[in-house]
Amino acid sequence: MKNKIFKYDFLIVGAGLVGSLAAIALHQKKFNVLVIEKNKILPNDKRTLAVNANSRDFLKNLGIWKELKSNFESIDKIMIKDYVNKDDLIFHNTAESMGSVVFNRSLLKISRDYLKRNKILLTDIDFKLSNHNPKKIVSINSKKYFFNKVIISGGKNFENYEKIKKKVFDLGHQAYVGFFNHQKNHYQTAYEIFTPKGPLAVLPSPNRQKKSSTFIFSTKNKENFKSLSTLIKKNFYSSHGNISLRSSISSYPIRPHLSRSIQKDILLIGDTAHSIHPVAGQGWNLGIKDIQALCSCLEVHSIDNLNFDDYFFSKRIIENLTYLTFTSAINYLYENQKPITKSIIKASHFTLSQFPSLKNLFIKQAMGRIS
Ligand SMILES: Cc1cc2nc3c(=O)[nH]c(=O)nc-3n(C[C@H](O)[C@H](O)[C@H](O)COP(=O)(O)OP(=O)(O)OC[C@H]3O[C@@H](n4cnc5c(N)ncnc54)[C@H](O)[C@@H]3O)c2cc1C
Repeated sequence: MKNKIFKYDFLIVGAGLVGSLAAIALHQKKFNVLVIEKNKILPNDKRTLAVNANSRDFLKNLGIWKELKSNFESIDKIMIKDYVNKDDLIFHNTAESMGSVVFNRSLLKISRDYLKRNKILLTDIDFKLSNHNPKKIVSINSKKYFFNKVIISGGKNFENYEKIKKKVFDLGHQAYVGFFNHQKNHYQTAYEIFTPKGPLAVLPSPNRQKKSSTFIFSTKNKENFKSLSTLIKKNFYSSHGNISLRSSISSYPIRPHLSRSIQKDILLIGDTAHSIHPVAGQGWNLGIKDIQALCSCLEVHSIDNLNFDDYFFSKRIIENLTYLTFTSAINYLYENQKPITKSIIKASHFTLSQFPSLKNLFIKQAMGRIS
């Protein structure tokens, strides 16, 4: 008994918003999965998450969506405004809503409860890459385990993050996140406003009154309650009426990057593999695509296939790199404020407003409907 080795297909490191859902997806596909998480307590994450149509279907298929009950709000329309063009761009889809907004904490709690119910989560364990050896034996709480693959989903704060990431276009932004109450209905509309100081995204908040919204403002500048309140009032008074900002504002460093796994049989997903500027509200949605790619690789290849890691990586690299480049370039263009960059912005806006088929392509992309 003392030398018993517990055999598993997958070890998932990190029970965050991507890791726990990866574990649920693999568990439902009858793989033997164990998840380890370094924190015992659910983080007090007050953010909301824009869930695109593809990710919403994914959550529905896992049976997670129905557990959210009424704790989500639909996004029917996305309004894009900027300081260069007079007209707004409107992204709208008649067949289905563009996406939904959920509280990070609600989704995380439902996912973690699934892992606990199925006894596949161990908390209070801090995984180090040095724990992994070529024989794939890992010791956890004095027990020995064999894992065919290790999936790292430790987010941006994973131990070796600084070594494995490749920085692309780091603009040194900080994201300020908060809530505001407003007099008028939000009409299920999300906004992306490109100000000269940085992009301001506003999402309808997932509560039934429809009179509160969340914001993310990402900028190089130092902001405080007063400056953020002025910014929100200036941009939303005409559409939302009187506004009062709630005092709890959080801030997060934005560190766009792309990483490639550094050890054989270790796969990276979610924010450990890539993190993009929150301008398109797609960071977590890309993590869901990682899980979907992993599941579709497993339908075609055995996990024992020597090239499995490469198949998985090649399925994700193009989209992740495209998003990383696109979101960083957009920020760079708007921040630059030079005549040449303003002309590029004007030309792109004109092209999108004149060619509906191109705009529809962007709408489909935002909904995660293009793979
Ligand atoms: C301000 C802001 C707004 C955003 N808005 C959106 C949005 O609207 N839509 C969207 O799609 N995305 C959005 N994102 C991105 C999204 O939040 C992230 O992509 C997503 O949360 C990443 O999930 P993850 O599971 O990869 O990482 P995390 O959520 O960071 O989870 C990592 C987990 O791993 C654990 N862990 C770390 N190291 C170890 C270790 N050594 N051993 C064991 N456990 C470990 C941590 O404790 C944690 O629980 C936003 C990001 C920011 C900063």
